Amino acid sequence: MLVDYHLHTARCGHARGTMEEFVLAARGKGLKEIGFADHIPMYWLPDEHRDPELAMSYAELPVYMEEILALRAKYTEMTIKLGIEADYIPGREEELSQFLSCYDFDYVLGSVHYVESWGFDNPAYIARYKEWDIDELYHRYFDLVQQAARSGLFNVMAHPDLVKKFGYRPQGSLHDLYAETARVFKSAGVYVEINTAGLRAPVGEIYPNHEFLQYCIKHGIRFTIGSDAHLPEQVGEGFEQIPLLVSESNIVRL
Ligand SMILES: [Zn+2]
Ligand SMILES: [Zn+2]
Repeated sequence: MLVDYHLHTARCGHARGTMEEFVLAARGKGLKEIGFADHIPMYWLPDEHRDPELAMSYAELPVYMEEILALRAKYTEMTIKLGIEADYIPGREEELSQFLSCYDFDYVLGSVHYVESWGFDNPAYIARYKEWDIDELYHRYFDLVQQAARSGLFNVMAHPDLVKKFGYRPQGSLHDLYAETARVFKSAGVYVEINTAGLRAPVGEIYPNHEFLQYCIKHGIRFTIGSDAHLPEQVGEGFEQIPLLVSESNIVRL
C-alpha cells in the first residue's frame, strides 16, 4: 500500500487547494496514509527577503500544524502525518537545527533547491543554466546533497537528483557521483525519497533516476514515496510508474 509523504498546500504561495482537498483527493485514490511536507519558512533569509510565493511565513506555521491536527481528528480512517520540507543551506545548519527542535514534526524532508543562492529548480531562473558548465553544476549539486545528508538534520533526502529537472544533462558519466552519494546516504542513515514530480517536469523522469536508485538499493537504503503535489489532483500521481525494483520491503513508514 503506497503512502504519499510529500504534499504541499496553498500556504506556500505557489500551490493550490486546501489541506482538506488534499486529504479528500488522497482518500479518493485509495491512500490510507499521507503526510504534508510544505516548504519551511525561509529561515536563512532576513524577514524582508522571504518570498511569500516560495514558502509559508513563520506566522502561518502554527496554523499549518493545527490544521493537520484538526484533519487527523476529522478523518480518523486515514493516517495524516505532519512533516516539513526543509531547505539545506550550507552554513545555516545551526539555525535549521534550532528551528526544527522547536516543533514536533513526524519527519523532515531535506531538500537542495539552491546552488550558491540560485533557485535552480525555479522556472523563473532557468536562464541561468546557460551560465554554468553543467558537469560542474552537477558536482556542486551532489556535493550539497551529500552535505545535507551528513548534517543529520533530515530523515529523508527529497528528490535527490533535482538538478536534472529542466533536462540539462552533463556530458560526463554520473556513475561515480551516484555511487558516492548512495554511500553517503547509507552511512548518514537517511532514507531517500522516490519523487514522482519529475514526471511532470521537462525531464519527464522520476527522482532519483534508475541508475541512482539501483545504487541506493545496492546499499540497502530504504525509501519513502512522494508526489510533491502542489495541486490536490496531483496526490499519488505517477505512483504506478515507480520501478518494480522498489518493493514493499524497502519502503518505510515514518
Ligand atoms: Zn513547492
Ligand atoms: Zn522540493
